[in-house]
Amino acid sequence: MVTEQKIQMVDLKSQYEKIKQEVDKGIQDVINNTAFINGPAVKEFQKDLEDYLKVKHVIPCANGTDALQIAMMALGLKPGDEVITANFTYVATAEVIGLLGLTPVLVDVNKNTFDINIEAIEKNITPKTKAIVPVHLYGQCCDMEKIMALAKKHNLFVIEDVAQALGADYIFTDGTRKKAGTIGTVGCTSFFPSKNLGCYGDGGAIYTNDDELAAKLRMVAHHGQSKQYVHDVVGVNSRLDSIQAAVLKVKLKHLDTYAAARNRAADFYDKAFAGCKKLITPARAKNSTHVFHQYTLQLVGINRDALREFLSSKNIPSMIYYPIPLHMQNAFKSDRYKSGDFPVTEKLCANVISLPMHTELNEETLKYITDGVLEFCNK
Ligand SMILES: *Cc1c(COP(=O)(O)O)cnc(C)c1O
Repeated sequence: MVTEQKIQMVDLKSQYEKIKQEVDKGIQDVINNTAFINGPAVKEFQKDLEDYLKVKHVIPCANGTDALQIAMMALGLKPGDEVITANFTYVATAEVIGLLGLTPVLVDVNKNTFDINIEAIEKNITPKTKAIVPVHLYGQCCDMEKIMALAKKHNLFVIEDVAQALGADYIFTDGTRKKAGTIGTVGCTSFFPSKNLGCYGDGGAIYTNDDELAAKLRMVAHHGQSKQYVHDVVGVNSRLDSIQAAVLKVKLKHLDTYAAARNRAADFYDKAFAGCKKLITPARAKNSTHVFHQYTLQLVGINRDALREFLSSKNIPSMIYYPIPLHMQNAFKSDRYKSGDFPVTEKLCANVISLPMHTELNEETLKYITDGVLEFCNK
């Protein structure tokens, strides 16, 4: 019975069982050679990820939040500079902007694809604007071609937050494809365990094709050090440890297979919910592949708490990514914004619900989940 085996939002244990031998060996090798910091596994993973992404430089670091912070530091952003980002995102994106004394300028997102609204970006560009941070939310890319055109016109940096979309392809109008995170000035990702490429602890990376910027990123991540014990700028200490790199090296080989499994689950959900007027299934962007970090529905005329309670009574977990818009969070309150300024974000925060999404979902489980959701909708 499917109900006896606990359904999880993310099933990392079953995924691990299938790659156990290789992962265990990778971890054991690190312990055997005691190269815990900057060991061979880190270099090897870095090279593998550069090849996978077709990007010149990958700079591993300690987590996705650090990746964003290091990127903004290396780009020389200074207090007073304005950075435009999506209101509908995980807090980390705006947090580092605030932490560095920069001014976060929040903008609304698109209703069906959840990505940053291009017109809203353009409207908010001022002489103080220095960077745009598009967030490839839930696993598909923002409209990078339009964002890059705006950035070029106004001479802005583009810092892609690719924490949820590692492996997604952006498809340009002429048909060329590039991996999410390799299009802007710099891309920042997270290897948090539940992310599409997750390690067994914290991890992150920054990507760029710019040699000079890569050197700065490495320097900032490493105590602002240019040579041993020579410190040119005030930096941070942010490293991917060797054990995590060993895990990631194994999992990277499976990333595309994992994305395919996530897409099969998403297709199953889409089909099951297609006839239900109370559910809006997530739209696929035309210019991006989707790696379904999350499968997120919008509810129409349904009490979300009641639905979650009903699902929970059937042992079906669900999550709300994200319940409160950033401009309503105490940490980001500003005279700039008031309730009602971000109609799409505010509506999404009130109406979205994410269902279990991971690499190990089978049809039996998916049917159990969709039957549960539909039973509530049809009541
Ligand atoms: C997870 C996440 C981050 C932060 O990553 P950590 O590794 O947890 O620091 C940043 N941005 C987005 C959109 C995320 O989902």
